[in-house]
Amino acid sequence: IQKPGRTILASTISKIYDEEIRSKVESLKSTNPDGPLLVGFLANDDPAAEMYARWTQKTSESLGIRYELRKFEDKDLLEENIIEANGDDNVDGIMIYFPVFGNAQDQYLQQIVNKEKDVEGLNHVYYQNLYHNIRYLDENKTLKSILPCTPLAIVKILEYLKIYNPLLPDGNQMYGKKCVVINRSEIVGRPLAALLANDGAIVYSVDVNNIQKFTRGESLKLIKHQVEDLGDYSDDLLKNVCKDADIIITGVPSESYKFPTEYIREGAICINFSSFKNFAEDVKTKASLYVPMTGKVTIAMLLRNMLRLVDNRQKIKNM
Ligand code: NAD
Repeated sequence: IQKPGRTILASTISKIYDEEIRSKVESLKSTNPDGPLLVGFLANDDPAAEMYARWTQKTSESLGIRYELRKFEDKDLLEENIIEANGDDNVDGIMIYFPVFGNAQDQYLQQIVNKEKDVEGLNHVYYQNLYHNIRYLDENKTLKSILPCTPLAIVKILEYLKIYNPLLPDGNQMYGKKCVVINRSEIVGRPLAALLANDGAIVYSVDVNNIQKFTRGESLKLIKHQVEDLGDYSDDLLKNVCKDADIIITGVPSESYKFPTEYIREGAICINFSSFKNFAEDVKTKASLYVPMTGKVTIAMLLRNMLRLVDNRQKIKNM
């Protein structure tokens, strides 16, 4: 039987940012003929990280951005080398491939990256702005804040899929939309739930322990989201919150996990950002649009963040 749903690839979506990035890089070359430099730090032997690094390099270079991968056998060398890159005027952007230590030391390392060079948007200043729905770094609103690149990529995907409604005012364009996010990590799931709720959506945030609801309250009366506990995780509660969900977003880091297709409302939109396919083969018997992977859009957002950081640095210099 013909399935009504359609697959939309991340590569199709990331392409629309190529031109914007390329022309911005060209204009930067008038002051810096070599073009901006992005440096990636890798100190693990995770093949997924290596592949992500290769993709970042390929995409950067195709758009006129220099990319340099700095690999370390000894994880303990990372910190001083990041500090050196922080102080190096030739380096425009820095990213680290996690996990490095695989524990809380990774969060420490993350904060070592100078926030003016943090292309992934993981500095706590950026997180705090996101959670508090503050969109600029300065009072005069000339320097836009940076967003963590994976949650931002998902927002851009939702814009591409026409879920964000441009007829509504900026900041309310997800009004009336119900989303379920299966992942509440501090890197992706929680900031994503907050971003979507700040833009007006009702978001059900699911992790192994419980299910929470993120909203700006009745009639969007709050300026930032609030969080309500709905109860411990159970399949029944998940099924219930999915009943009228417009969008289901998964990020479960497990090969065997499959989101139950029968929980998907007919015509809902399904997006998976996990490196494993979290939706079953038959997802398009229910989903109208299905985005199986998001990594390429994340890379586009990384490069876009870097150009914004370069812009912000120039603006600060001219202030
Ligand atoms: P994590 O381990 O920090 O978090 C996993 C989250 O999923 C947790 O909140 C956990 O409670 C939840 N979870 C796990 N099993 C669940 C289940 N059965 N039901 C409900 N919730 C469950 O991982 P992470 O860093 O957030 O990464 C998640 C995945 O996303 C990985 O596969 C990673 O490779 C991928 N990732 C992709 C991108 C991208 O750009 N596409 C970026 C970052 C991470």
